Amino acid sequence: MKDFIDDDKIQHVLDISVRPEKKRVEDVLDKAKELKGLTPEETSVLLQTEDKELINEILITARFVKESIYGNRLVLFAPLYIANHCSNNCLYCGFRRANKELKRVALTMEEIAAEAQAIEAEGHKRILMLCGEHPTRSSLDYFIEAIETVYATTNFNGEIRRINVEVAPLEVEEFKRLKAAKIGTYLLFQETYHHATYREMHPSGPKRNYEYRVTAMHRAQEAGIDDVGIGALFGLYDYRFEVLGLLYHAQHLEKTCGVGPHTISIPRLEPALNAPAAIKPPHPVSDDEFKKLVAVLRLAVPYTGMILTTRESAALRNEIFGLGVSQISAGSRTNPGGYHDHGGNDFMAAQFNLGDTRSLDEVIYEIVQQGLIPSFCTACYRLGRTGADFMDLAKPGLIKKFCRTNAIFTFEEYLLDYASDKTKKAGLKLVEKLLADTEGAGLKRSINSRLKRMENGERDLYI
Ligand code: SAM
Ligand code: SF4
Repeated sequence: MKDFIDDDKIQHVLDISVRPEKKRVEDVLDKAKELKGLTPEETSVLLQTEDKELINEILITARFVKESIYGNRLVLFAPLYIANHCSNNCLYCGFRRANKELKRVALTMEEIAAEAQAIEAEGHKRILMLCGEHPTRSSLDYFIEAIETVYATTNFNGEIRRINVEVAPLEVEEFKRLKAAKIGTYLLFQETYHHATYREMHPSGPKRNYEYRVTAMHRAQEAGIDDVGIGALFGLYDYRFEVLGLLYHAQHLEKTCGVGPHTISIPRLEPALNAPAAIKPPHPVSDDEFKKLVAVLRLAVPYTGMILTTRESAALRNEIFGLGVSQISAGSRTNPGGYHDHGGNDFMAAQFNLGDTRSLDEVIYEIVQQGLIPSFCTACYRLGRTGADFMDLAKPGLIKKFCRTNAIFTFEEYLLDYASDKTKKAGLKLVEKLLADTEGAGLKRSINSRLKRMENGERDLYI
């Protein structure tokens, strides 16, 4: 597989739609409402819109699309950093090799089990496991042993049911080993799709190879991992260019592998220790631009999940939930060992600073206040509804039916086992309302009977 990102083409598509006419923008928004996605050219029209009123229309349309397809559930996960040694020198990352001040840590299996228990004690069921890229301190053997350790670690009713992973690009045979370890989604961010910026940001180490990274998802798919997640690190280059890069990446995967990405991640640069590009981002993305790009992505790829992390502040995250984000991290630590030693996010060992330092319970309370349903669901992956099967299912209404129901079940589990009194009170009221609003007498009965079974001690119920 060869590099398929054409910088000149992306720039050309952006150049031909500078300051688009109102009518053109409205036509694109009408098409977006059909929930079939947008071409790069149409996406570019929205990205190049600077008119405040029209941008507001983009946001409103994104809310409509999100509501039509996903309903009001929000999936929660916690990142688990197991090691921070790295042979790369990414100019934006605290783990970079040249950062001599960083406290280097590679957790032992006992420590990883302790992290898993601490995460489970908060109520999480899904994690994203990640580390730096290092031949000995973060080898694939070590990583796979860590996955096995976490799956085997329980804490009363707590267990991790899905481990998504984010590790440096691998060969097909290596990806097969990850699949055999029962990972959920394989995530990897291209960071920037702009070749010259990529070279500048990655002065040395294996990550300098753009082509090897941009083709990683194709190798993962070849190995049978059909849920893959792409992403760009916003702030390194023009955000419009990156959105189109993500779109071309998604299209290429769909064309060559038969299925596009399961998720798109939208991290934005945060300050990091001794990381010049993080301290002074080359192309800072304002909050308004960030909201706009989230909305445009929602319209361009309506069936692809979108992931927002604790890099963003609580206030902004609250605003962005409604625009199309389907997954968020909460209660995160980006320093290996940060969960069980209760040390918080130790900047001297962390990858970057956190924008939202609230606990999972606080985040959940806030989500409930917005009428959204917090979800810890892992049903699709465990029932084999992945890749193309998931995309077939992801038609309006269907995601809503399955995901809404499973969200209610996993939220009820959280309320019974982990919630603070305040969250429990607000949450049980929400569950009651959701049950009352459920359409279809059969579905309502089946939800009700399962909720009763949970009250009687059963766990892990899903459809
Ligand atoms: N080391 C692997 C890699 O680079 O792909 C695994 C993932 S790395 C630990 C996780 C991601 O964090 C990177 O892909 C990058 O997008 C993001 N990241 C690095 N520095 C960051 C910063 N200062 N602010 C926000 N995100 C950052
Ligand atoms: Fe290493 Fe990944 Fe950080 Fe780059 S982003 S320095 S590869 S951990």
